[in-house]
Amino acid sequence: MATLLNSTHDPNRLSWVESANDSEGDFPLQNLPFGVYQTSGTETARIGVAIGDQVFDLAGASSDGLIPDEVRRACCQPSLNALMALGPTNWTALRARLSELLGADTCPPGPLRDAVWRRLSTQTAVRMLVPARVENFTDFYASSFHAATVGSMFRPDSPLLPNYKWVPIGYHGRASSIIMSGTPVRRPLGQLKLPDQPAPVFCPTRSLDYELELAAYIGPGNPLGSPIPVARAREHLFGVSLLNDWSARDIQSWEYQPLGPFLAKNFATSVSPWVVTLAALEPFRAPALSRPAGDPAPLPHLADPGDQADGGLDVVLETLLLTSRMRAAGESAHRLSQGNFSAMYWTLAQMVAHHTSNGCNLRPGDVLGSGTVSGPEPASSGCLLELTRGGTRPLTLPNGETRAFLQDGDEVILRGFAQKPGFRRIGLGECRGLIQPAGA
Ligand code: MN
Repeated sequence: MATLLNSTHDPNRLSWVESANDSEGDFPLQNLPFGVYQTSGTETARIGVAIGDQVFDLAGASSDGLIPDEVRRACCQPSLNALMALGPTNWTALRARLSELLGADTCPPGPLRDAVWRRLSTQTAVRMLVPARVENFTDFYASSFHAATVGSMFRPDSPLLPNYKWVPIGYHGRASSIIMSGTPVRRPLGQLKLPDQPAPVFCPTRSLDYELELAAYIGPGNPLGSPIPVARAREHLFGVSLLNDWSARDIQSWEYQPLGPFLAKNFATSVSPWVVTLAALEPFRAPALSRPAGDPAPLPHLADPGDQADGGLDVVLETLLLTSRMRAAGESAHRLSQGNFSAMYWTLAQMVAHHTSNGCNLRPGDVLGSGTVSGPEPASSGCLLELTRGGTRPLTLPNGETRAFLQDGDEVILRGFAQKPGFRRIGLGECRGLIQPAGA
């Protein structure tokens, strides 16, 4: 069920919140992403909507009677789960109302605008929290370019395993270590096996990496035993944020057989604060990746003409690195890669359909990581494992420093945005993480 384009997407509409009208900004009137925040000196978590450099307090707006009745209770919760559970009809009603309240044309100077203005806070003055109570986190592996490049390092003759083009590959991750952007990431210790040593050692990882991904937040979800067909998956996708699936490659390569990643990835997963709704991304829908000649068609339960037509997302994703030396010198972060989510082999809807195809139940607020977003060009590779060919070809940064993998003091910054002629550019904001030295 597609959300049709409506006045909330109209590129000519401006907000009376001036900072939202910057054409390069992430949060114009057409975006309206949701997050959860605390104001200084309070413990109360509340739902907010980003508009320009401000956040609009939905709990306060609800108590002022500004929010539609059917979503008011959900807007007063300390997480987005209840709102996610409500489903597309209610999401659409709330988005329309927010667009009306924050639009310059629909909310002229007067008492209503004053009431909204009183519920704005500057984003830099609030503390953002993980936006949902995430009970389950699944990480997919949906870029065939990432899978093939990584596979080629281990299996030059058959980079993609035979199941790849049939099954959206994924593993169950760890929800408890999902952290908000800006939370430092401590270098993990782990067991790793050096090639020239007869036995493994336990020590800080030597090959700490990031993975550039999107997080998809699940909406209503499904009862146990009732699969979600691919054609209905959109009703269960609330929105997306940036996700960094931090990975210790040396720990990973020693532990991953036969059951897949475990401690190499569950020490931290960073998410960006703002969940950009699928409704906001509607203008940036794109055809699903057309499969190379000779690839099998998806099995019927993963195939839907509508999903093939516009189940992809034309979202630009990039990674930047700021080393401690660059920071000390006042230099700006260096872009390591830029790719596009439309290059993914599997769509978000196919991931939802596959995940539930055995009857497994998805719950409101569950996170599906897309897997590392890499495209066909080397410059679009979404992790250092690919960019440095497993650390064998270190990158040289503009200041002469080199990196095979991340060093202590490095900060990784993920960014994402969507832009297209005829529409307002919208952004995902940032997902940041600074590497701290391993603990004792
Ligand atoms: Mn991953």
